[in-house]
Amino acid sequence: MRAEVAIIGAGPAGISAARAAARKAQVLVLDDNLRPGGQIWRRNPLLTALPENVTLKTRVRVLGPWQEHSLLLETPDGPTILDYDRLILATGARELFLPFKDWTLANVIGAGALQALIKEGWNIRGKRIVIAGTGPLLLAVAALARKQGGKVLRILEQAPANRVLAFACQTALYPSKSAQAISLGFGAFQNYRTSSFIVEAIGQDRLSAVTYQDGDKRYHVDCDIAAVGYGLIPNNELAGLLGCRTREGYVVVDNDQRSTVANLFAAGEITGIGGVEKSTIEGEIAGLRSTGQCADHCSRQRDRSWQFAKILEKNFRLSPALKNLATDDTILCRCEDVSFGEVKQFHDWRLAKLQCRIGMGPCQGRVCGPAFSFLRGTGSSNVEPVPVRPPVFATHLQNLTPKQKL
Ligand SMILES: Cc1cc2nc3c(=O)[nH]c(=O)nc-3n(C[C@H](O)[C@H](O)[C@H](O)COP(=O)(O)OP(=O)(O)OC[C@H]3O[C@@H](n4cnc5c(N)ncnc54)[C@H](O)[C@@H]3O)c2cc1C
Repeated sequence: MRAEVAIIGAGPAGISAARAAARKAQVLVLDDNLRPGGQIWRRNPLLTALPENVTLKTRVRVLGPWQEHSLLLETPDGPTILDYDRLILATGARELFLPFKDWTLANVIGAGALQALIKEGWNIRGKRIVIAGTGPLLLAVAALARKQGGKVLRILEQAPANRVLAFACQTALYPSKSAQAISLGFGAFQNYRTSSFIVEAIGQDRLSAVTYQDGDKRYHVDCDIAAVGYGLIPNNELAGLLGCRTREGYVVVDNDQRSTVANLFAAGEITGIGGVEKSTIEGEIAGLRSTGQCADHCSRQRDRSWQFAKILEKNFRLSPALKNLATDDTILCRCEDVSFGEVKQFHDWRLAKLQCRIGMGPCQGRVCGPAFSFLRGTGSSNVEPVPVRPPVFATHLQNLTPKQKL
C-alpha cells in the first residue's frame, strides 16, 4: 500500500494531524502500542476517534528508512515496506531515568511508568510510594496513585523552591494549566519537597526503603514503590535516521511544522517538550499544511503553547548535583550490565559502546544513552542526543528482509 499521508505515532499530535489531513487526503496512522492515544489518551476511545478515510494500524513499529520515501515496518504479520508521499512524524517522548545506587531493585520504576501501569490495572491499594524526579508529571502521577488507594509518602522535586514557585506563578497565565496545577497540587502539598532527590534504593530482592537528600540532609523512608522520572526526552531516533536536522535533540521545524527534509513534517513532543496542547495544535498544523490547507488560525495557540514549553524547560532544568548520583559500581546499562565505573573514562557514546557494550541490549540505548549523555556530557545539565543507527528498535534478523508491501 502507498499512503498519501503517513503519520507515525497515534498520540495527541498524530491523532490531531490525521483528523486535519483527512479533510483532503487518504491517511495512514501507525503506532507500536496496542491502542491509539500515545502517553495520555490511551484507553480513551472518544479522544482517539478518527474519520473514515483514516486507516489506523497499531502494533506496528517503524524500524527505519528503507529507500527514498519508504519505511521499513515490523508488523504482527511480519516485516513490510510502506511507500508514502508525505510523512508526519509524531513519535512523542519518553522518560529520562538517571541511575542512583541500586536503582535496578524490583519496584523502582519510572514515574510515567507507574502512571501507565495503574491505568492498565496494577493494584497499588495500600502501597507506600515515593515519587521523585522533576516536573509537573510527578504531581499528576501522585494524584492518580492517591486516587487508586496508594499512600504517597513523598514527592521529591529536584528543582529548588524558587523555581517551582516561579513555574506556579507563570502557569497562572494559562487558565487550563493553572486549574490543573491547583487540583494536582492540592493533595500533594504536605509531602512535597524541593531540592530533593533519591540517592539510594534499599532492599534485598525488592525495594523496602529509599534514602533521599533534601538540601544538606539525608533521610530514610520505608516504602514499597519508588517512581522516578527526570523529565522527558524526545523519541527523535527515526527523525535523525531520516535526515532531519535537530537542535538539542529536538526536530527543527518551520511555522508549517516542516522539517529540514522535503515532504517530512514533525509535530508534538519531538519538536520540544510542552504537553498535550502543544502536541495537539502542532499536529493540526502539520496535518493541514502537509495537504495544502491553510493553518493561519492555529498560529496564536501554537505560540502560546511554545511559551509554556519554555517556562517548563527553564524552571525544571536538571541540577548538576544529579551528576554525582551514580558511583563506580552503579549499573548504567541494565540490558548489558555495564557499570558507570566501566564507562566513566569515555565522553564519546560510540567509543563507550564499542569498548563496553553499553546500549547494545534490547532497549538499544533508549534508557542508558540519555543517562550517559547527562552524566558524561560537557554541558552542566543538558542531555545531548547520542548517535543512532538503524533499526530504531531491536528486532529479529528476518525483519530486516521484508518480502511484501503493506
Ligand atoms: C510516561 C509518560 C507519561 C505522561 N503523562 C502525562 C500526563 O499525565 N499528563 C500530561 O499532560 N502529559 C503527560 N505526558 C506528556 C505527554 O507525552 C504529552 O503531553 C502528549 O502525550 C504528547 O503527545 P505526542 O503525540 O507528542 O506523543 P505521545 O503521546 O508520546 O505519542 C507518540 C506515539 O508514537 C509512538 N511511536 C514512537 N515511535 C514509534 C515508532 N518508531 N513506530 C511506531 N510508533 C511509534 C509511541 O509509542 C506513542 O504511542 C507523559 C509523557 C510520558 C512519556
